[in-house]
Amino acid sequence: MSTIINDIEIIKAESSKINEVDFDNLTFGSVFSDHMLVCDYKEGKWQAPKIMPYQPITLDPSAKIFHYGQSVFEGMKAYKDVDQNVWLFRPLDNFKRLNISSKRLSIPELPEAYFMEGLKALLELDKDWIPTNDGSSLYIRPFVFASGQGFHASPADEYKFIICTAPSGSYFSGDVKVLIEETYSRSANGGVGFAKAGGNYAGQFYPTQLAKAKGYHQVIWTDDNTHEYIEEAGAMNIFVRINDTLITAPTSDRILDGITRKSIIELAESEGIDVEVKKITVTEVVEAAKNGTLKEMFGAGTAAVVSPISAFGYKGTDYELPKLNDTYASFLKKRITDIQTNKTEDPFGWRF
Ligand code: PMP
Repeated sequence: MSTIINDIEIIKAESSKINEVDFDNLTFGSVFSDHMLVCDYKEGKWQAPKIMPYQPITLDPSAKIFHYGQSVFEGMKAYKDVDQNVWLFRPLDNFKRLNISSKRLSIPELPEAYFMEGLKALLELDKDWIPTNDGSSLYIRPFVFASGQGFHASPADEYKFIICTAPSGSYFSGDVKVLIEETYSRSANGGVGFAKAGGNYAGQFYPTQLAKAKGYHQVIWTDDNTHEYIEEAGAMNIFVRINDTLITAPTSDRILDGITRKSIIELAESEGIDVEVKKITVTEVVEAAKNGTLKEMFGAGTAAVVSPISAFGYKGTDYELPKLNDTYASFLKKRITDIQTNKTEDPFGWRF
């Protein structure tokens, strides 16, 4: 049986899988809630979304996603406070970025109402799946891909927009050891690095596997031209603290405009921390590590929240970060998660 609310057809799952989930031992993004939202683009327009039981989808083998990689996605989280209210963090920014990514990949842009109303309806239905344990949340994965058929290397004429959700624990289990990349590049000027395009991640897997084989968890990407500037990591923007100044690279064609990154910049500034958005050279970070002025490095992103980096490797040498008691990373992580989970006031108007 289905009902229609706000133009969205809702077909409920006959039974819930929620009792099969161990909410005390969640990993990241590996179990999925009962429902998903699906919205089709055909005949030149996005059709009204539907919510249905989480299930596999059928695609023609010639669907262009398989051949030409037309796909973009987002990553968001839903949180529940002690009064069981459900919160999102800056969701309109994810909606806007999805359309920025889509435009670059020649994918038709979505109407805001389908994204926002669809997401709200989905969360209303699956709100029991939002974990309340510290550090856990309901990870939300909206994505759009070319379902239209044909081997002609041109944009598809049909697409699917889907939102799935996954109750999740932390992305990293401990501190993160990174390798500063000297050979491979994630993106280039004029390319798609600023977009959350599926292919950007596929291209990172091989260099990241090489780094993992050497004992690192992540690659820190450097600019494609000189490999002298620190840009970002796999799914995180990077912050470096030299003395008491927090530095992060400016966004560009090559770097994702992270929502956590820009929130951390605003938060840190509002707390009186000196923040500089400027190009960071590998040389200055290595020098700072050698002369003791490098105090912290951390990654910032929706999945990883604020993840301290314990050491970095460069040209065959490992540099350990100092173990400080009071770090910007732990202070800023607490500030941002308290806002996200409604444990404190939100002077910025980020909570939704
Ligand atoms: N850089 C890349 C390449 C990413 O995939 C992500 C995760 N979306 C980020 C940075 C962080 O962005 P956000 O804070 O919006 O999650």
